[in-house]
Amino acid sequence: MKFKAVCPRDCYGGCSLILEVEAGRIVKIEGDKENRATEGIICRKGFEYISRNYGRNRLKKALKRVGDKGKGEFKEISIEEALDEVAKRIMEVQEKDPLSFLFYKGAGELGTASRVYNNFINQLKGYTYVYGDLCSAAGLEALKLTYGSVEHNAPWDLEKSKLIVIWGKNPANTNIQELVHIKRAKEKGAKVVLIDIRRSETAKYADLVITPEVGTDLALAMAIHNYIIQNNKYDVNFVNNYTYGFNEFKLEVQKYSLEYAQEVTKVPKEKIVEVAELISNIKPFTLICGFGIQRQIQGGQTVRALSLLPALVGSVGIEGGGFRYSNHTRPRLNLKTIKPIKNTRGINVVNMGQAIKDKGIKCMLIQAANPVMSNPNSNALREALKEIEFLVCIDTVVSETAKYADIILPAAATFEYYDVLRSYWHPYIMLHEKVVEPLGDSIHESRIYRELADRMGLNKDLIPENNLEFIEEVLKYSKINVSIDTLRKGPYLTEDYCEVVYKDLKFNTPSGKIEFKVDGMKKWGENELPIYKEFDEVGPFKLISIHSRDVTNSQYLNIPSILDTMEEPYAYINKDDADRLGINHGEKMIIFNSLSSITLRAKTTYDVRREHVVVPFGQNIDLNSLIEGRNTDIGLCTAFHNIGVNIKKFE
Ligand code: SF4
Repeated sequence: MKFKAVCPRDCYGGCSLILEVEAGRIVKIEGDKENRATEGIICRKGFEYISRNYGRNRLKKALKRVGDKGKGEFKEISIEEALDEVAKRIMEVQEKDPLSFLFYKGAGELGTASRVYNNFINQLKGYTYVYGDLCSAAGLEALKLTYGSVEHNAPWDLEKSKLIVIWGKNPANTNIQELVHIKRAKEKGAKVVLIDIRRSETAKYADLVITPEVGTDLALAMAIHNYIIQNNKYDVNFVNNYTYGFNEFKLEVQKYSLEYAQEVTKVPKEKIVEVAELISNIKPFTLICGFGIQRQIQGGQTVRALSLLPALVGSVGIEGGGFRYSNHTRPRLNLKTIKPIKNTRGINVVNMGQAIKDKGIKCMLIQAANPVMSNPNSNALREALKEIEFLVCIDTVVSETAKYADIILPAAATFEYYDVLRSYWHPYIMLHEKVVEPLGDSIHESRIYRELADRMGLNKDLIPENNLEFIEEVLKYSKINVSIDTLRKGPYLTEDYCEVVYKDLKFNTPSGKIEFKVDGMKKWGENELPIYKEFDEVGPFKLISIHSRDVTNSQYLNIPSILDTMEEPYAYINKDDADRLGINHGEKMIIFNSLSSITLRAKTTYDVRREHVVVPFGQNIDLNSLIEGRNTDIGLCTAFHNIGVNIKKFE
């Protein structure tokens, strides 16, 4: 039997799928062509769900730790026994010191159903939660402040663009369906420019490639603005009528001469002129901005400066134009949640390890997260997890973090529960149907929290069961007028969906215009104008982590079909740097700083700048042990970039 479905990985795609189920097992997965954004194209991760759900590492029983924390030695226990133990330990800590209970939820499984935890923890006497973000929050905040919302034209509208500037994104690896639309625009004559810290896999589709030094994108963007303004090539009518703060911006941007930008970014000034000329002469112009851009210390200001380029040349609110970052045009999916009944406090995600110690956390519950691999300063976190008296993880595998758990509760995997999803790239609403029963003793979070609530004397009926009534409730609460039967037919667009955003040129900002100058930046202690600051990373090399094609963060490290074909961990290093250090292609090297060191194979190349080292994330190495925990300028995102390291040959 065939079912329409959706991939809930934390990925631009949000792919619509078709699943074939036989005798209670998924036997085939393919893309659903009815989604105009993804067109039935899915990546390897989508095809690997069969290995993910049924492979040797999938948890089917609850586990109890028998060895030292972190060693990953467990024995199987019944789910009832595991739930009894977890409920007892949370109750004990609630009696003594409610705030010493820490809850942490990751983005391991996107969707609405996983958020039912709210109605469990909010019944507790108190708890500590984790605030801040690992992903895109600085850019989101930048766009809310600059445009008043985070939206872009339909993915397929890209094909109407005549100039596409891809800045800090590698769609050939991380958004393969977007590349299809880019290629189609190119076939129709569009020019494509790639600006990135290396010549990525997307470079071969670009007419012009620019590789600035990491962390200097803001200076480069300001120099492009300056060139366009100084040469009177901007759209005066658009700027005068639909933007705010331009005169102050114009004064500030004068500091960014071509010579200054060349010195800072190491991009020849002729190339800066070339891209500025393209932007000022070709319309419609779309700028696609990746998430990595805002994982710099100045991430928010950088996204602001980039997002203002389409506004400067009046390429906003039109077909084929605009700024693309994340797309919130799709309707919000809301879950009715209850408010906390007692006290709570937060700890910053960038500082989780130290904060666990400082705040005296005794008991911790982690849902769908692997912070030991995904969060900064991971060695501090490992040490902190060892000291927690009782750690429970809800997961589908024994992740690197779960190795520190006292109890692991086996979670229902993708397609084993009901949910309704939206993507952060395309505008569809999609049903995630429960097409097979959870394997073994694994159960959905909804049931986990209901069972715990029952054992703890809380009201389990406040936590919705995972069924189709739950989906209907979410749709009703979100004011989306669509039936389950309609959703079963495939991806759904609401009737009022408009493919072009900001068509009316009205913006939900204090001025009602796009804001070159943002007064709201002051609340973050930042200048109202995007001003570049030079950073001096300690270490001769700058470390950059990039996303991989075949894994989502650390999520596929336990999937047999991926694991068995995975290369030994590697990093890209400039060939001249490697020669100077006596490191040959394929040899091992050590990357180190004051926090930690990791050993990987060198891939020598001229696609990476001198004094930069690029490590694909999602390999089986402690990459984040090298990352100091720091926030970005705005939005409380994690600044994974601007990290200094040294390199030596492995002897
Ligand atoms: S991981 Fe991303 S691209 Fe791959 S199938 Fe899932 S949503 Fe699509």
